[in-house]
Amino acid sequence: MKILVIGGAGYIGSHVVREFLDRGYSVTVLDNLSSGSRLNLFDEAAFVHGDIMLPLRLREAMAEGFDGCVHLAALKAAGDSMFRPEAYAEMNIAGTINILNAALSAGIQNMIFSSSAAIFGSPRHLPIDEKHPKNPENFYGFTKLEIERLMDWYDRLKGMKYATIRYFNAAGYDVQQRVKGLEMNPENLLPIVMETAVGVRKGMKIFGDDYPTRDGTCIRDYVHVNDLATAHVSAFEHLVDNKESLSVNLGSETGVTVREMIQRAREITGKEIPAVATERRPGDPAELVASSAKAREVLGWEARHSDLDSLIDSTWQAYRNHFRIS
Ligand code: UDP
Repeated sequence: MKILVIGGAGYIGSHVVREFLDRGYSVTVLDNLSSGSRLNLFDEAAFVHGDIMLPLRLREAMAEGFDGCVHLAALKAAGDSMFRPEAYAEMNIAGTINILNAALSAGIQNMIFSSSAAIFGSPRHLPIDEKHPKNPENFYGFTKLEIERLMDWYDRLKGMKYATIRYFNAAGYDVQQRVKGLEMNPENLLPIVMETAVGVRKGMKIFGDDYPTRDGTCIRDYVHVNDLATAHVSAFEHLVDNKESLSVNLGSETGVTVREMIQRAREITGKEIPAVATERRPGDPAELVASSAKAREVLGWEARHSDLDSLIDSTWQAYRNHFRIS
């Protein structure tokens, strides 16, 4: 079976490509390399240097025929999206329309879309299951929800099947260390912890320690990218086998505080990792934890590497290799 992975040179995309290759699929990556890296390309996958804002290039790439398309190409910084909504509207929403229309022309029946917990907004109840109200509180989350709705219409009107996978906090690196590129200018907690551990940063900030949580810092649900990747393959197989679209939340179902993450990283890396508590970051809910019951039931998915030590250790190995730290 042939799969096109758009955004396959990025952090999550490269792990998804690796998983499809491991399962014997033929994979083509399409990426504009704006945030993805050539280091993340695997020899076994074909590569097209393309851009989702260039519909002709998309159509050309899709013309050879694919059984499914995984779409991970997007702008993803929630804070940034509040200042540059026009960029997010164009890249995320218009870019996805280009992909869906090109896929329709090429007869691609199955779409896997990387969505986000940001579609839910502040939690009304925990854990967050698929029935939780969808009230995005940042523009990024709004774009992801609009795309989900768009895909639902394309299914109803054109029979194009989709799986939307709502990631909670993606973290970790390939446990076999086959993904070589690190994210540039990371804004997420664990890469920032690691940049501090390797000395790229002198110290880091803890955004708020007065939340109503066990140590005052925010609780998040970190899910390993290798676990996210297996869900994409299972979702594709579900579409092929059942011809039925689906949306699933994907997290480890375990809450970790910011301080717990930093403290365990100190123990695993043996580095000091100076961290000072500062003011809260606007828009941060105190606690976000997923229910992945549906993913387990419908996809047979299970988190195998999403325990705190595997998350930190696999990321530390990637940073050690990159910065040649013994
Ligand atoms: N965080 C922090 N310092 C940082 C980066 C993140 O304290 O330098 C906190 C952030 O406030 C949140 C958690 O770590 O509570 C996870 O943040 P991240 O940006 O990784 O993911 P988000 O929860 O925003 O999707």
